[in-house]
Formats: sequence, structure tokens, C-alpha cells
Amino acid sequence: MTDLRARQPDLLSLAPPLRDGIGRRFEYLRLSLTDVCNFSCTYCLPDGYRRPCNRPVELSPDEIGRAVTAFAALGLWKVRLTGGEPTLRRDFDAVARTVAAVPGIRRVAMTTNGYRLAERAQAWRDCGISAINISVDSLDPARFAAITGHDRLADILRGVDAAQAAGFESIKLNAVLMRGINDDELEAMVDFVASRDLSLRFIEVMRTNDNAAFFAARHVAGQTVIDRLEVSGWTRLPRQPGAGPAIELGHPSAKGRIGIIAPYSQDFCASCNRLRLSSDGRLHLCLFGDGGIDLRPQLTGDDPAALLARIRGLVATKAPAHRLHAGDSGATPHLASIGG
Ligand code: SAM
Ligand code: SF4
Repeated sequence: MTDLRARQPDLLSLAPPLRDGIGRRFEYLRLSLTDVCNFSCTYCLPDGYRRPCNRPVELSPDEIGRAVTAFAALGLWKVRLTGGEPTLRRDFDAVARTVAAVPGIRRVAMTTNGYRLAERAQAWRDCGISAINISVDSLDPARFAAITGHDRLADILRGVDAAQAAGFESIKLNAVLMRGINDDELEAMVDFVASRDLSLRFIEVMRTNDNAAFFAARHVAGQTVIDRLEVSGWTRLPRQPGAGPAIELGHPSAKGRIGIIAPYSQDFCASCNRLRLSSDGRLHLCLFGDGGIDLRPQLTGDDPAALLARIRGLVATKAPAHRLHAGDSGATPHLASIGG
């Protein structure tokens, strides 16, 4: 790592910001640390994680450092640590510290199912993570257990309290809204976050290779969520410069915001500002794209210029939009495989 840090000033001065073929700029890297998960969410890994026979080795902290250094040199300044369940990695804290120390990285965020949050919140904050998203798909303990396969809602909510006590700058609860499973909880979830000064993200169920039948039965359109929120006084906020594809709503008496991730809505791809790196070093230009492009040879090598050139060349080929409306959800088997 030291050699790369030493070269960082050169990299920064050489590199104009990363753009794709239609002029979109990229600021945000979603970095998957592992595809392994201990939960079995019905929309993601309903049968739990199954280790493939030829499972590739996860990126090492050094490879992660090289990758993040290169993306930072290309203008990306925010990194989200995700998975699978990223906190299953034994070296999670060390990886977080490595990422937070890369020059140019101004925000390190993480997404977790929260199973270790109650004990680890302060330690993760101390590693330099300033924003955390915690998946909470139901506030009813029995439903939570049915959705995730784990009767641990109380632990996760203790974790949310611990995150608040640890002083994260941003805490969001992520909820995937599913028809007939938890869509009757929308208002209760909104009250829960509003009374605790938290933000909430509703995520439309996304179709992946493995969940087509589940998607067909359970998908709820983001617009119906917006309609229900507007009835109780939430209003749509103007899109901030550099903001990602979430639609945001605010309420005069709530500090936190509500975001809707609605990939099936019009123009979702126009504001795409993110790239994804899987835990085995594949660059995914789109969540609903193909199998990703292997960057490992450049990540293990010691030629930062070659890594930058490869990323730049690949990003130039990013498709203008996904093909979900044509029934094509790409090659991703489930979001645990590339980090959501
Ligand atoms: N294990 C962590 C967690 O669940 O928060 C991080 C990884 S998970 C893949 C990241 C996010 O993707 C979670 O908020 C999860 O709810 C969401 N997700 C997973 N599969 C999804 C799907 N098919 N549709 C919509 N959201 C999904
Ligand atoms: Fe695991 Fe997250 Fe997928 Fe749930 S959504 S199975 S916690 S990776």
C-alpha cells in the first residue's frame, strides 16, 4: 500500500474525472467485501448462502486499498462497504480503516443486516465509517423472523440505538416493501423513524435471476409508496446536485428523510453515479448487467496507471439504461452476490 499512497499525488493530477459515454459522472463506489451471508431474506437468499464449489478468493485488504485508491484518483469520493453481510469478514475493521485512509475518500458508509451492530457500532464509527444503513424489513418480531430467517429484531433495534449513541452522521433503515408481507407497515415504519430522528429507505423488490416468481408476486411500485406518504404530509424534495437515483421526501416535523429506490421508475438510470466492485474484484457497471469484468489482474499487480486506464476504458462502455422493462434483469443471481 505504501508505494501506491506515495504515487497518489501523480495519480490525482493525471486523472480527469471519470465519465461514461453519455456524460454521467461517478462519485460513489459500492464495494462488496464478501458474498457470504448469515441471513436468508426471502427476496435475496431464501435458502440461505450456499458456497459455490469454485468460490473465488475474496479481495485482500491490499487489493481493496489499490482498488479504492484508483477509484478515488478517478474522482469517486464515497465508498459503501456491503456484501453479502460485510461484517462477517474477520478483517472488517481493518478493511474499513484502510478505505477511510485513502486520500480523496470523504465518506465511508456501510450496509448491514445489523446482527453485530449492538456490540460493534462504536468500534465501526471509530474505524472511520460515518454512515450506516441497517436493513429492517419489519417491526413485527414474528414477521422479521419469517423474512430474514432469524428471530433477532430486538437485537437489531438495540443496534440501531447503539449506532445513534456512537454518533454516526447518517443512519438509515432500509426496508424492502413486499406486497402482502409488510406493505401494511409503511405508516408504522415512517412513525418509527420520524420519532427517532432517523431516515428510511424503501426499496422496491428488484428482480434478479433467482427470484422471478417472488418478484412477480410481491413487487410494490415506488409510486404507490409516494402516494401514501403524500397523504400524510410528506413532500418530494428537489434532487440535490450529485445525488443518486433515490427519490427523497421530507416532512416539516421530521428531521430524517424518506428515500424511495425505485429502479422501475422512469429516468432511474439518468442519475446513476455509482459503480460496483464485487468481493472477487469484478467491476459491475450496472446492478442489472452481465457478470462483471475482472479487474483482479490489475488489482494484484503494481501498475496503478494500467488499473486506471482499464477502469476508464470500461466505464466508457456503460450502457445508458438497464433493460428491466424488456424483462431482462441481467445475470445477477441475487443481490448478495454483488452487494445490492
Ligand atoms: N447484508 C446486508 C443487508 O442486508 O443490509 C448488505 C447487503 S444487501 C444485498 C444490501 C441491500 O440490498 C439490503 O438493504 C437488502 O434489503 C437489499 N436487497 C437485497 N436483495 C434485494 C432485492 N431482490 N430487491 C431489493 N432489495 C434487495
Ligand atoms: Fe443477507 Fe442482506 Fe441478502 Fe438479507 S439482504 S440475505 S442480510 S445479503
